[in-house]
Amino acid sequence: MSALPIAPSPEPERRTSRFAKIDAHVHVPGDKTAALKVLDELNVEKVVNISYSQLGEPEEIESFEQQLLGGTEPYPERYLFCSTFNVTRFNRPDYAEQAIAKLERDFTVRKAVAVKVWKDVGMLLKDDAGRYVFCDDERFSPLFAWLNRRRTVVYLHMADPIAAWQPLEPKALRYSYYSEFPEFHWYGKSDRPSLEELLEHRDALVRSWPDIRFVCAHLASLAHDIDGLAAFLEAHPNAYADTAARQVDLMAEPDQKVRDFFTRCQDRILWGTDWSPRPDLFGQDRSAWPAIVAKIARSFQENFRYFEERLALPEPVLRKFYLENAAALLGLKSP
Ligand SMILES: [Zn+2]
Repeated sequence: MSALPIAPSPEPERRTSRFAKIDAHVHVPGDKTAALKVLDELNVEKVVNISYSQLGEPEEIESFEQQLLGGTEPYPERYLFCSTFNVTRFNRPDYAEQAIAKLERDFTVRKAVAVKVWKDVGMLLKDDAGRYVFCDDERFSPLFAWLNRRRTVVYLHMADPIAAWQPLEPKALRYSYYSEFPEFHWYGKSDRPSLEELLEHRDALVRSWPDIRFVCAHLASLAHDIDGLAAFLEAHPNAYADTAARQVDLMAEPDQKVRDFFTRCQDRILWGTDWSPRPDLFGQDRSAWPAIVAKIARSFQENFRYFEERLALPEPVLRKFYLENAAALLGLKSP
């Protein structure tokens, strides 16, 4: 049974894609009814609406999560909530107890389907001596032990694209991102962890907790190394990867190489976009919505063409990627 949208969905033949989908990675803080118009147009049945910590204090995280949860009540089967927890208080004696209490509430009351750990762990968070604190730090272990007991799904975004460690050049893929967020551009900064070091900590965490299924976001920060990504997934049976905000990296690779990767790892890759509409995108004027929806849908359509026409992935592989892998992982009935 799916929740009823206010307006009927487009007829199937009018939809942008004939494949039903779960978007495993979005951040939608604004108008949920308006955003559903886009999702209906794209044949997206459900989204995982993800919170993240951003070095936030508990009340800041709560405020962001209120935005993510706000307006979802009529559509509980379409907006799935992925929670997070504060990381800045890791040194306090009651840290684990407080963080677990928050997660307990999120899973029971807010029906969270997963938890996200963001790259502030490893890339921003430091201890009192000024050393970086990584995701496999023992001070987080009580939380992961709790998550492991619950057989939870945990999203990990534990590093940046390799461009963070390369010169910032106008023709580079991530030029605008690192121009806007120079704090994450670490080229030439020898006092910062390397990409390899961040991924070693991530891999150690994944190995430590075999009953947690880890969705390693953004192609597991290995978009530059498809063979390495396949090897990572094969070495870690509890690891998955989503494509959020990394389709552009795939498109820069030879088609045959990407096609082979999707075939080889077809049970472990989730379709995710990282769609993060600004809360004020749709505004109050409903007459403006159709044009906004059409524009966004057109941009997504180009993404579908890549998988469905340029790569021409076989239908069973597409169905797993778009829908079935996420449904199985999150314990959902396929729509
Ligand atoms: Zn994201």
